[in-house]
Amino acid sequence: MINLCRFIPLFFCIVSVGCVSATPSPAPVESRSIEASAPEETVTIGGTTYPVPEAWIGQKLDAPPLKTPPLVQIPQALTKDQSNIYILREARDALVLMADAAQKDGVSLRVDSGYRSLWYQRKIFINLMKKGRSFEDLVRYVAPPGYSEHMLGTVVDFSPGNWRFAKTPAYAWLRKHGGEYGFSESYPKNNRRHPWESWHWRYRNPAGSGTMKQ
Ligand SMILES: [Zn+2]
Repeated sequence: MINLCRFIPLFFCIVSVGCVSATPSPAPVESRSIEASAPEETVTIGGTTYPVPEAWIGQKLDAPPLKTPPLVQIPQALTKDQSNIYILREARDALVLMADAAQKDGVSLRVDSGYRSLWYQRKIFINLMKKGRSFEDLVRYVAPPGYSEHMLGTVVDFSPGNWRFAKTPAYAWLRKHGGEYGFSESYPKNNRRHPWESWHWRYRNPAGSGTMKQ
């Protein structure tokens, strides 16, 4: 925001008909970024800066890094492959209650992913880009660093963490009962900005509005 303010006078100079410059403008920013209604958002990965895609603009999360505590471990029996996965206590407690209720209905909920730090999210990109994937390709499926709800400590991905999850009894059960435990889909089918992620569920307070206190 501060940077943008610095460049606004320059922008007016560039676009104003009455403002004639004798030399080509040495504008340090592209006109595209100035003309946008909001300042361009970027992420830096491995020393290179990339523009944030339109679908994620305005959705950067201001979430501090979390440690244990307040993060607590999800019982390994509720995770895929007995993994060490952490989320905030209130979300974990709600998850355990929910998984228990699902089990009583004959449905197994298994968690594939929980808290992920900004550092970790960036590492995902670095590792995949080392294998030849481009940022533009990856960002169609993976939230850019700083934009992933997994930073909040209130989000879990259920297994399988892909499109197949939508066809499972677990998904059907969650659709019916997840809300009773404060969980909701962040990127439901036919949402206007992001691909459908049936496996990605976020805990909010049981009232179903706002963000839980951390
Ligand atoms: Zn997720």
